[in-house]
Amino acid sequence: MKFALFNDYELGLVDGERIYDIGKQLFVHDPAIAFKCKMVELIKNYESLKARINEVKSISEIYRVSDVRLRQPVSKPGKLIAAPVNYVLHQQEMYQEFTVEKLGFFLKATTSIIGPGETVMLPYRDRRTDHELEFAFVISKNAKNVKAEDAYNYVFGYTGLMDITVRGNEERCLRKSFDTFTPMGPWIVTKEEIDNPDDVNMHLTVNGEIRQKANTKDLISNVAKLIEVYSHVMTLEPGDIITTGTPEGVGPITEGDKVRMEIDRIGAFEVNVKYC
Ligand code: MN
Repeated sequence: MKFALFNDYELGLVDGERIYDIGKQLFVHDPAIAFKCKMVELIKNYESLKARINEVKSISEIYRVSDVRLRQPVSKPGKLIAAPVNYVLHQQEMYQEFTVEKLGFFLKATTSIIGPGETVMLPYRDRRTDHELEFAFVISKNAKNVKAEDAYNYVFGYTGLMDITVRGNEERCLRKSFDTFTPMGPWIVTKEEIDNPDDVNMHLTVNGEIRQKANTKDLISNVAKLIEVYSHVMTLEPGDIITTGTPEGVGPITEGDKVRMEIDRIGAFEVNVKYC
């Protein structure tokens, strides 16, 4: 299934060209829902809510996907964890000595997240700022010291993410945490829809020209391995986002650009670019 947040962060079920406003029906008995992220509440309670989804779908308001404003699929996750240098060809293009196996991870500020159709605001006119196309996943339940062979029990689903990055020598966290530097979307596809996350095609275009094209089979540390390594350090929680790193082909973006990413079996979205 495909779940999205849309308009005023309502929870929608996406089916083809249509989006069903299921959140209002699913959480009709929970007045506190107004103060929570409906996506995280869905994720936390998915096992018990699952059976009701089709039932509420039939009584939910329906919109065209093209008529709603899609939002980032988790409004503000507890953690946004990112893998540095996780493809060999990207390691080579950046002349990096180490890969994810030595570097581990970095955290991005969750306030950097924006949704489809929004605008990446570049803070510097005189510094190179790049797009990074990334396959990301969403944690389903508390995960601590999880082994790679059990890791998919802790995945809720998959989504698209751009890890916008100022090049330079500061810590990654600083260079990647500016407001608007993490476009995410267009929705979350639950894990059953992608039987093998280690074989997913994706690409990114700038103004229609292909800049990055890759398959997750080339990841150095795959989804399962990242969960093992990261859950050894910290408890992963429902709604946490982990992004797997960018393949080769990163390049600068500038005012006026339209950056679009597409992942097979997930979907596509586009963002604009401006100077602050
Ligand atoms: Mn990245």
